[in-house]
Amino acid sequence: MTAHDPGKTPGTTIAKRLLDEARAAARQAYAPYSKFRVGAAVLGGDGAIYKGANVENASLGLGTCAERVALATAIADGERNLVAIAIACVDAPENSPLAQRMPCGACRQWIQELAPEAEIFILGENRSFRIHDLLPMAFSLEREKG
Ligand SMILES: [Zn+2]
Repeated sequence: MTAHDPGKTPGTTIAKRLLDEARAAARQAYAPYSKFRVGAAVLGGDGAIYKGANVENASLGLGTCAERVALATAIADGERNLVAIAIACVDAPENSPLAQRMPCGACRQWIQELAPEAEIFILGENRSFRIHDLLPMAFSLEREKG
C-alpha cells in the first residue's frame, strides 16, 4: 500500500483519513505545560494506523513528541513498513507559519530511520513532504549505497 496514488495531492482519501486520525490523537495529548497538543498517525503497509500524542513531563526535557510516540507504537506492534505519517498541531494558531507545525529535529531523525520512504502530511498544508527533503545528509549508521 502507498499513501495515495502517484500524482495525486494530499487531498486524497488516505491523506485526509490519516490527518483526521492525527487530529483525533491530539485530543489525548498530555500537554499541561505547553498547552500545545499535537497528534500523529502513522500508516502501515497493511493499512493499519498507529496513533500518538505528545506527552510532557514536569522535568521539561523529558517530554516526547507525538510523532515519536506514533512511530514507537507502530514499531512495538511489529510494523516495519511505514508508508505515511500525518501530524496535527491542533493548537497552532490559524495561519501560523509552517515551521511551527513541522516535525522537530529529533522526530525527523526518527522518521529518517524508521519511515524513510514515508509521505509526510501536515494538517493545514495542501502538499506532502519527504524526509530526505526535511533532513538532508541525515546521520545514519547504514553504509552508503552505490
Ligand atoms: Zn518532535
